[in-house]
Amino acid sequence: MTDDLGGDPVCWLDRVCPDCGLFLDDPDIPCPRCGHVPDTSPTI
Ligand SMILES: [Zn+2]
Repeated sequence: MTDDLGGDPVCWLDRVCPDCGLFLDDPDIPCPRCGHVPDTSPTI
């Protein structure tokens, strides 16, 4: 198995806007493209 991307895809999935797919440098701010607000509520 080769993983040239060097990491679990889940790592960056968390940084991609679920609404428009834009990659977010800072996942803690609303998406600059579609305005999607990240869910910052703690994981239960
Ligand atoms: Zn978006």
